[in-house]
Amino acid sequence: MASKYGEVVQESLNALLEDESFLPNFKEEERKKAFTSLESILSTPNQIQKSFLRVPLENGKVLRIPAFRVQHNNAVGPYKGGIRFHETVREDEVINLATLMTLKNTLHDVPFGGGKGGVVINPREFTEKELHTISKKYVHNFSDILGPDKDIPAPDVGTGEREMDWMMGEYKSIHPGRPYRGSFTGKSQVNGGSLGRREATGKGVYYTLRYMLHNFVNENEEWFKKNENRFAKTALNHTNRQLTVGIQGFGNVGSVAALESYTCNYLDTKVVAVSDRNVTLYNEEGLDIKALIEFTSQHEGDLPTTDEALSQSNIKAEIQDREDVLYLDTDVLILAALEEQIREDNVDKVKARMIVEGANGPVTLEADRKLSDDGVLIIPDILANAGGVIVSYFEWLQGRETQFYSEEEVFTMLFKKMKETMDNIYPQFFSDPFPLRQNCYIHSVMKLSNILYRHGKLY
Ligand code: NAD
Repeated sequence: MASKYGEVVQESLNALLEDESFLPNFKEEERKKAFTSLESILSTPNQIQKSFLRVPLENGKVLRIPAFRVQHNNAVGPYKGGIRFHETVREDEVINLATLMTLKNTLHDVPFGGGKGGVVINPREFTEKELHTISKKYVHNFSDILGPDKDIPAPDVGTGEREMDWMMGEYKSIHPGRPYRGSFTGKSQVNGGSLGRREATGKGVYYTLRYMLHNFVNENEEWFKKNENRFAKTALNHTNRQLTVGIQGFGNVGSVAALESYTCNYLDTKVVAVSDRNVTLYNEEGLDIKALIEFTSQHEGDLPTTDEALSQSNIKAEIQDREDVLYLDTDVLILAALEEQIREDNVDKVKARMIVEGANGPVTLEADRKLSDDGVLIIPDILANAGGVIVSYFEWLQGRETQFYSEEEVFTMLFKKMKETMDNIYPQFFSDPFPLRQNCYIHSVMKLSNILYRHGKLY
């Protein structure tokens, strides 16, 4: 399979091929054919659209900017996935991310398929007026394939509420009289956005760790003590004691996960290191996360980078290199910055025995294999960072019902949905030899295959 996630999907299909209770109606040759058909459906997107956005700049020049929308699979529901504004956007990466969205939504029973979009720009190099034009042109060029029941974009790297508001405005102008509120999610609250959307991913990331250690392991402690599974031993080793935590990335996801950890009443977690695009800050006694969030809110999202800035804000920390957070001797490492941070070439320096993926794909497959063989427990992106898309689903529902939930209701519903997924996954994960990522993929591929089978698409 061509995509980055293809290898894991292929391994999941191989495991399912052996399992005769899965798709029992298919025997021998027919079974092989059904699996070939599954493989081809999962490894190829339904649609890849590329367009050039013609954008007049304020200085009089005109640019033609490449833009993509990939619709991977919609067996479960309308396509759903963010639009990224970044200079490194490439077609194959958009396909990868759209594939991950199909599997993520299916895993969490969110009734959406998988999609993703991208525009090849560095948004910092454009004026607000130009970004407005780029956002409108994107909707204009892809307007036939977008819509509340077709394909519902959301923010991603480089886009946020502002762009979603502009895009929904353009969608409404192009399709007068048609329902439009559910056409985009991640909008501002005055424009129909959901309360709690900004915090959803970071809260969900921390919740997967908290639920595993505080609830699942504690409630099944005797079973865990007798369990020889290497991941069960790692999890047990991380319960009922203080845990030190390092967090890479202090933006939307990382800072919220840090605050959850700092204020958690269930686990005794101490955040000793956080990092961003400039620095790592370290304090073995624990960092003052509230003061750091206050600082970043006044400094365009950046952490303090000098001793002077730290002392002016009364924050006690040692300044280290930006990469150092990855190699500190912490119990837990939360990755909430970028893709491919732990790779074959640096994996041997990682000391944390539990890793939570807030970003998409921060651990490469090769590094994942090495860590997993060694018993390091990784809570993967597909499970950990789904809070954003789950609350996007609530936003879409609220747009259809034109009725809004309180922040408390949103978080209660979010945790309930994530708990249901974990209750489905954790018992099997701690009983068999596959890493958690593989386990999640097997669950997701199994659910998707059953739906495709019932739609009569496997032959
Ligand atoms: P953000 O832009 O708010 O924050 C990114 C953080 O990473 C910033 O603190 C930035 O300084 C830091 N960073 C950038 N380059 C770095 C580097 N080389 N080394 C260390 N830190 C670096 O983004 P976000 O919304 O917090 O998203 C973080 C990751 O999570 C992204 O990969 C995103 O795709 C993924 N994600 C986000 C959501 C969401 O709802 N926001 C949902 C799913 C996945």
